[in-house]
Amino acid sequence: MTQSNVRHLRRVSAPLAGYLRVGHRDAALITKLVEQGLPTGAGVIVDPAARARTAELRSAAVENGVEVILDPKSVELSTVGGMASSTISKLPWAHASPHSAPTLHGAAADAMAEAIAVSAVGQGVTGVLAPTHFLDVDRRWLTVDNELTRRLRSHLDSKGAGSTVIYYPLIASLRLLRNETALRRITTQLAALIVARQVDGVFLRVQGFGTTKAGPRNLRSYITIARRLHSLGVPLVGERTGSVGVALAAFGAIGGIESSITFGEVYDARRLNKVPDGRGFVPAPRVYIADAMAMVPTQEASAILGRRGFARLACQKPCCRRHREAMVVDARRHFVVTRASELARLSATPDMDRAEHYLTTMLMPARDNAAQLARFIPGLSAHRNRLDDWYFALQRTLAEDQEAEHRTTALVPTGVRLARGA
Ligand SMILES: [Zn+2]
Repeated sequence: MTQSNVRHLRRVSAPLAGYLRVGHRDAALITKLVEQGLPTGAGVIVDPAARARTAELRSAAVENGVEVILDPKSVELSTVGGMASSTISKLPWAHASPHSAPTLHGAAADAMAEAIAVSAVGQGVTGVLAPTHFLDVDRRWLTVDNELTRRLRSHLDSKGAGSTVIYYPLIASLRLLRNETALRRITTQLAALIVARQVDGVFLRVQGFGTTKAGPRNLRSYITIARRLHSLGVPLVGERTGSVGVALAAFGAIGGIESSITFGEVYDARRLNKVPDGRGFVPAPRVYIADAMAMVPTQEASAILGRRGFARLACQKPCCRRHREAMVVDARRHFVVTRASELARLSATPDMDRAEHYLTTMLMPARDNAAQLARFIPGLSAHRNRLDDWYFALQRTLAEDQEAEHRTTALVPTGVRLARGA
């Protein structure tokens, strides 16, 4: 056995990464969890316009080794719906009208990249999402985004932020990514950025995909496309994947997941193409019943946990140990800690056993529990059917993987810049 084989066998893969998108009301909650030493995940994604609100969170996260990533809101800035938000249209890199591919190059691209770098340095973040765009709207964005990313890297470097990572959000529909020519063009561009050490990871943001929108065909397509991206040799994270993200990570398709707290488990860029009707509202937090992989409205969760047969679904983790109602009363705290614990549990299982472990110890029991819950909460029948779909789709993938000689596993982001291009 050669030396390199020995090293390979002994290598322990990095724990799967969970990223939280910090919403309006979340900063104080996550700060507290981080300071209490409870698991919150690998990193937080912050809104550049919420500078004052995230100040404490940013410093607590950095002190505790949690990544802080700035989202420059580039997709929002290229849409009428996004620009309708006063905080977004006031960002220093916003223009008077939505950004468009034909105009955002040269001096305009440089000014945008520099303003984002200034904000990143000023807010002391450890990473930035590259200012990329929704490729289905205009494929020319691919070239523009390449330029923006290179200019951002160079501005960060020249401002003393050479260790700040750049993650590249690849934003497209599964339909576009299934197109072989389009996918090849995308991977060629990305590979060029990676070889030149311009990006340290790819965040896959798939239009219309997420926990509530993942049918069997889409789930298997997602896995196929994610695995194609492994050849880039950089960490891969699935954005807005939520509960289905845990499955994708178990199958080695992605090395990390990203989600909001208790809602927003689907990415919908098309929504931004419309001007909002002004009735903006923040949905009420739902309660995550982990043993059924279900998000349940507060009242129903409270009622169900009060039934004798379902008391076993109450959370036993450090977030809720105090009392049964804790997961209802503090639903967001419970969600953050539980999601991070799910990833930690999978991470403790060797790569190659994770898929089977997920199917037998997580998804199968969740299907049974969801079926029982759906008898009392009619709103959960769609969820129950979805878990059935996932089960059959994933079981098929597992069987195919076991047949195949070799299966690739996504790299996990670690928050540090890649030493060299792939
Ligand atoms: Zn809990």
